[in-house]
Amino acid sequence: MVHEKPCLPDPPVAEHPRPAAASTLLALVHAQGEVERLSEREQLLSSLLVSVNAVLWAIDWETRRVLYVSPAYERIFGRSAGLLLADYREWRNSIHPEDLDYAEHSLARVLETGTVEDREYRIITADGQIRWLSDKCYINQQADPDEPLVVVGMAEDITEKKQMELELHRLATTDVLTQSSNRRHFFECANQAFDSACAQGAPLAFLLLDIDDFKDVNDTYGHLEGDQVLRRIAESGRSVLRRGDLFGRIGGEEFAAVLPGCSPEMALQVAERLGKEIQALSFSYAGQAFSVTISQGLASLTEQDSTLDNLFARADTAMYEAKRLGKNRVVAG
Ligand code: GH3
Ligand code: MG
Ligand code: MG
Repeated sequence: MVHEKPCLPDPPVAEHPRPAAASTLLALVHAQGEVERLSEREQLLSSLLVSVNAVLWAIDWETRRVLYVSPAYERIFGRSAGLLLADYREWRNSIHPEDLDYAEHSLARVLETGTVEDREYRIITADGQIRWLSDKCYINQQADPDEPLVVVGMAEDITEKKQMELELHRLATTDVLTQSSNRRHFFECANQAFDSACAQGAPLAFLLLDIDDFKDVNDTYGHLEGDQVLRRIAESGRSVLRRGDLFGRIGGEEFAAVLPGCSPEMALQVAERLGKEIQALSFSYAGQAFSVTISQGLASLTEQDSTLDNLFARADTAMYEAKRLGKNRVVAG
């Protein structure tokens, strides 16, 4: 840097430097050191902001102008920080459409509470990837009430953690062999469906399925072939039922379904269709073809049913009646 000599009259000759000039010099040296220290700190801060897997941001709340976004924005969002700084709507555009309402309302909630720490939502990166963010936000305390209200936040990429959580949930709720709901998850969901049917006075049917003579299948064709039968029956169950119906494996060779909003007549038709589909499945073992049948017990919600267990017990009795009557049939209890 070129320092121009200031255009001042020559100073009077003095034997010793004046104390004022010495202190100015010292102040300059000190300021120079301070600038260097600050620039080192700024470099350190920038490299920290680049390496951290979170985006720090600040917006002017009234004008919705993005005042600052840290370098990780471009890496995590895969979008240009310049565009975001130019237009707040770029943030809205990046949010998964199903989470947009939630993301905006939870951001506005920061005004009531001062801080919102628990919001999680999905974004879509420029190249179409879905990422999960945990975006905590706070009101930046204003020294002067006339200063603009600034909301600051830290959006952390939690995609991996979220995928792990979803996978753990899947493992905890799914039967490994048939990929249907396991017994515990099926009954949890069935109880919720029962409660909402009772609250709305809506119909609901409970169906219990048991494979006929399954022990013979295992004994004749082997346990592995038996497993294959269980898998194919579960597939049929899932394909015959509608969205919103529940289906699960609740025992060795027992499955159950809950059909919300389904009248007793409709439920009987569904059960009969399911019985036919399963009977039509063809299996072969060592060149030998075979098929299986199921017995089903059906119970429909009445005003006397105070718990799901009432319905389950009636469906169970009906299923045993179907076995007693010769199997491969539906009995409505
Ligand atoms: P029913 O018509 O009266 O229902 O006769 P069943 O032979 O189907 O009934 P039973 O209760 O006597 O036998 C059920 C069989 O289901 C016995 C058991 O080994 C078999 N089983 C239970 N879980 C599994 C499994 O995960 N895989 C296989 N392959 N078999 C299983
Ligand atoms: Mg059984
Ligand atoms: Mg059986």
